[in-house]
Amino acid sequence: MSKLDVLVLEGDGIGPEVTTEAIGVLQRACELGGIALSLEPGPFGGACIDAHGEPITQAVLDRASQADGVLLGACGGPKWDALPTSKRPERGLLRLREHLAVFANLRPAKLFAALADSCPLRPERAKNFDFLVIRELVGGIYFGKPRQVTGEPGHRVGENTLVYSEPEIIRIGRVAFETAQRRNKKLLSVDKANVLEVMGLWREVMTALAKDYTDVKLEHMYVDNAAMQLILRPADFDVLVTGNMFGDILSDLAAAATGSIGLLPSAALGEGPGLYEPVHGSAPDIAGQGKANPLAAIMSVAMLLEHTAQRVDLAGAVNDSVDAVLNRGLRTADLAKQGETTVSTQEMGTAVLAEVEKRLS
Ligand code: NAD
Repeated sequence: MSKLDVLVLEGDGIGPEVTTEAIGVLQRACELGGIALSLEPGPFGGACIDAHGEPITQAVLDRASQADGVLLGACGGPKWDALPTSKRPERGLLRLREHLAVFANLRPAKLFAALADSCPLRPERAKNFDFLVIRELVGGIYFGKPRQVTGEPGHRVGENTLVYSEPEIIRIGRVAFETAQRRNKKLLSVDKANVLEVMGLWREVMTALAKDYTDVKLEHMYVDNAAMQLILRPADFDVLVTGNMFGDILSDLAAAATGSIGLLPSAALGEGPGLYEPVHGSAPDIAGQGKANPLAAIMSVAMLLEHTAQRVDLAGAVNDSVDAVLNRGLRTADLAKQGETTVSTQEMGTAVLAEVEKRLS
């Protein structure tokens, strides 16, 4: 791809601060990598409620469909907390995900060598882990029908439905196999095939799909065992693929192992434009103080370069630059140990940018 059209929705709180640094890195990486980048900002979240009365407008949704990718900051904050759920900033994010039909959520979890001390796991267990959870995002028990509570008080019954069709399993499976091909050619499919028929189908379809990807080694694991093994030997994992609810739980477990929420990027992919965003929220407690860690947003840009622009080389340069600044000892407040000197959001962004230039010039 020699052109890249990105819609930027910086949102609220620290969203604009971290997005500014991420965009700086994206612009320079594209310039040095021969990509003509066009950026268009759009209103989103609380800021969009203030300007337009709703958290996302139809015009922004339409524009998002035409872009190659969407880069998002974060949304929400106390100013909009009293609004009914259906009108809150976070609703804009759900509408956007739904609109773009992004069914595959990619959440890398990596322990940076320089930050090994922040990992809650014992060092000999946590050493060098670097894996990726691929979670099905628009199906499974969070969306299945029927979903209801029925009956008389005292005897009410609540029900939700875990449902996956073969086409749904195949499309998330293909994203997982193709991602595994670009990494270490190892894929673990996580299910509960021993007790759930739908998960039996999941396992059967994944196994059949493996015939199209003979270079990838597919393994299966039950989710309860996967949760245990991720804590006992995280470094043995590479790419995991699983359904919506299991992925929700396992990706947060993985997040806790990395040390700071300011280090977690994500991508949500579908047939059309991808949506890239740091996992963290708008952090109103530190907004406007230059304290936010921009690395999750910057690594989200690396994911955009890899998955939308198909430039693994540029993505690698950005990720290596993040490694380099951490190895040099730069720390935003969330990463610093007591007594350690800290850098601001902008200083961290500028340092990564300089490393990117070194690698790509
Ligand atoms: P949060 O992620 O915003 O903050 C949790 C804690 O982590 C805070 O102490 C915060 O200061 C810290 N933190 C978060 N990101 C950081 C960063 N980059 N650098 C340093 N520290 C960081 O979660 P919350 O406090 O539960 O939610 C705040 C608001 O964000 C709420 O309105 C919530 O609904 C919204 N939210 C939005 C998203 C999103 O836009 N995707 C995700 C989660 C929460």
